[in-house]
Amino acid sequence: MKIKINGREIFLESPATILRAARLAHIEIPTLCAMEGAEPSVRCGLCLCRVAGREELQSACETVTEEGMEIVTHSAEIFAARRQALEKILAKHDQRCTTCFKSTHCQLQKYAQLYDVEPDACGKLTALVPKDESNAFYVYDPNKCILCLRCVNLCSSLQCSGALREEEDGPIVAVGGEGRGKSRCVSCGNCLDACPTGALVPKDACYAEGRTSAVETVCPYCGVGCRIKLYLRGNRAVGMTAADGPANDGLLCVKGRFVFDFINHPDRLTTPLIRKEGRLVPCSWEEAYEAVINAFKEVKEEGPEAIAGLSSARCSNEENYLFQKFIRVASGGNNVDHCARLCHSSTVAGLSQSFGGGAMSNSINEVYKTEVILVTGSNTTETHPVIGAKIRQAVKKGALLIVAEPRKIDLCEDTEIFLQIKPGTNVALFNGLAKAVLEEGLHNRDFIDRNTEGFEELEKSFERVSVKECAEICRVSEQEMRRAARLYAQAATAAIYYSMGVTQHSRGTDGVVSIANLALLCGQIGREGCGVNPLRGQNNVQGACDMGALPNLYPGYQAVANPEARAKFEKAWGAALSPLPGKTSTEMLDQMEQGKIKFLYIMGENVLVSEADLNHARKAFSRGCFVVAQDIFLSETAALADVVLPAASFAEKEGTFTNTERRIQMSPKALPAPGGAKEDWRIICELARALGLSGFDFEGPEAVMKEIVTLTPSYGGVSYARLGKNGLQWPCPDAAHPGTPYLHKDGRFPRGKGLFSFRPYLPAADAQDGEYPLLLTTGRVLYQYHTRTMTGRNAAIEGVAGGPFVEIHPKTAARFGLRDGAPAELASPRGKVTAVARFREDMSEDVLFMPFHYGENPVNNLTARHLDPTSKIPELKVSKVKIKSL
Ligand code: SF4
Ligand code: SF4
Ligand code: SF4
Repeated sequence: MKIKINGREIFLESPATILRAARLAHIEIPTLCAMEGAEPSVRCGLCLCRVAGREELQSACETVTEEGMEIVTHSAEIFAARRQALEKILAKHDQRCTTCFKSTHCQLQKYAQLYDVEPDACGKLTALVPKDESNAFYVYDPNKCILCLRCVNLCSSLQCSGALREEEDGPIVAVGGEGRGKSRCVSCGNCLDACPTGALVPKDACYAEGRTSAVETVCPYCGVGCRIKLYLRGNRAVGMTAADGPANDGLLCVKGRFVFDFINHPDRLTTPLIRKEGRLVPCSWEEAYEAVINAFKEVKEEGPEAIAGLSSARCSNEENYLFQKFIRVASGGNNVDHCARLCHSSTVAGLSQSFGGGAMSNSINEVYKTEVILVTGSNTTETHPVIGAKIRQAVKKGALLIVAEPRKIDLCEDTEIFLQIKPGTNVALFNGLAKAVLEEGLHNRDFIDRNTEGFEELEKSFERVSVKECAEICRVSEQEMRRAARLYAQAATAAIYYSMGVTQHSRGTDGVVSIANLALLCGQIGREGCGVNPLRGQNNVQGACDMGALPNLYPGYQAVANPEARAKFEKAWGAALSPLPGKTSTEMLDQMEQGKIKFLYIMGENVLVSEADLNHARKAFSRGCFVVAQDIFLSETAALADVVLPAASFAEKEGTFTNTERRIQMSPKALPAPGGAKEDWRIICELARALGLSGFDFEGPEAVMKEIVTLTPSYGGVSYARLGKNGLQWPCPDAAHPGTPYLHKDGRFPRGKGLFSFRPYLPAADAQDGEYPLLLTTGRVLYQYHTRTMTGRNAAIEGVAGGPFVEIHPKTAARFGLRDGAPAELASPRGKVTAVARFREDMSEDVLFMPFHYGENPVNNLTARHLDPTSKIPELKVSKVKIKSL
């Protein structure tokens, strides 16, 4: 289509609004209400244009281009009309700009200046109405609201929370409560970015231009990898807003937007600590290193098995690389692991068996290309909120959503099918779906023949599976199970999203393999929008795995047992390496308890809240093992250490982080670390040199990355210079490779062909009995992060999250004499905790839920060390418990 704007010829592929066409041609038309991705609200009257042949000025946001259309966007007539529109808006606007948070970056102010608006010509707003200050993080001021509806549109079409609506003649009010504080609002703050005026402002942040500087970086919380702008005043972090990153497209969640004060918190560790006479006391770095080196040398005499290290999913790739290299080179063994053991070790094990590699197959934004989305074992809107919002966007655009979960989660509002499964029945669920596909002949024979092996054996094994029995085990309707199977198999594109609800089981690897079986059976993998997508929890858990912070794998998932791989690393590192896989984190605790591991170096992990069966973990820590904890706060684990080394936070060091979609992103240094705290990479290198090791003389993280790329084929083409704003998605094998948005294209799996492997359903290790009649499942909540070392120091988010709670069906509560909001005691064969009862009608009557974040009353007192035989993940998702009122 050819049109003319201001006399310039413009070519369009298809009709668009004039506003969009002008933007594509880099011609600015002013607007205060229009927003990309949302229907025009036609409120502000600023985008008026002259279209040849039309009597009235036209709104550019709603007028669609036609062949040959001639448009004028700027003239004296248009200037006057826009000024008039602005005067009308300002007449109802509280014009106390000098004290407004948005002053200097307010779009209304900008246009008022640009269009020469005379304040006196506008009239004055005389009676001010009260603000809505009920939300813990932001304020709505109706006196500054111009009713442009951007916030309403954003909340409904991009954030997809539907938390706002316009009252007749304004203002904008919250849905589901009196104010925004008690409503459907999930405090993502995305509407604050959309608001063109000072009507929506944060309570506790400052990012006014001129008074602050900003650094673009990556959110330090979950694995989505949203890009943020971190605002600084001097050496203080004073605010965060969304940057337009490939994973988030300008969206954030409450943590990534409002919870930054841990960076400058007075609790930050600023000096090393050493234990003397039972107490941790400050010491110099020299004294701390000397104590660590002496203990290390003493223990090393007993052999490599006595030394272990826990790396960190919150540290950078470079730091994880250095940590595992340090443990392997210094000890001669492979006792190195990290918290992926507790979240996605079953994914790494299961997908490696089925496909040859364990990572998300698709890019986050491919969800828009997926017809049927199957979410299981993931409360996505709470644990990966921006991915949750994008799934909801996809559903709004027509995708069908199937959710299989023990609890009714927020995504269930949008589902086509909700299968409320019993915790621990994932294998039965996926076997039931696969059997239904086979029975109804919906499997993709062509894909199976070309790209898989083991189909005949699988088909034979499935002869003894019945959909009815699987549905009964899962406690769902057989018809709905069959309907879900049909939708998934018959979709042009279908993808499975899962998280720890699948992996944290004594049969977690079987759960992952049974998911892979279904995807292979239906050929729903290896194409854009089709795949198997494990959602990774912490900001760099993918990277920590990639970097070989695992006891059986070197960087790039190269097996320590493989002589060729070992020879490569021995040559590069100048050290003799062990061919024997080391101990997993769960096994390390057993070894500590048995007095076999005597030196444990922990970087940024809080195992004494996150491990299963904490009474056992505490016992392990009491057996005299020398513990070095490197952290930014004195966590529950660091408090028991012999030496504590103060580390820099994400904002205080340079490095790369790999998000859940395999995207390696740069995070620059924005601030100096407080006091004597140092970057983790620097501490590891200093310790290594103090031990007399070579190969740790790096000038900085970029030099470390240069070594990583020589040894890690999937990172082979990565360099700091290439990462830029969008990063690179591995595999990126060489400098010319653009990165890989989705895996297994055309059925090319890293192991060759996709492998079918039948896994029978086996019940969870803990079964209800007369003494413990209930099943407890655990998880995360939106308003906390992991073991609360960061979120626990923010009063606003703590206020909203509240303390430990247990969700329970009212009928069950009545059976055990519990009141809503009253304290209860839960006990399992492993221990006890107390929590406040929260009634939920939609819970299954014999299932309870508790979040795992709370160190002072940890749910992991109740969980068991029933380990998956392959991945060694504990069964954190199913524990038999009893409950009573306190
Ligand atoms: S903060 Fe988020 S959820 Fe709340 S109203 Fe704004 S966009 Fe909607
Ligand atoms: S609060 Fe802001 S974005 Fe929402 S309608 Fe008012 S001015 Fe527009
Ligand atoms: S979704 Fe995850 S990465 Fe994005 S802002 Fe929230 S916590 Fe940060």
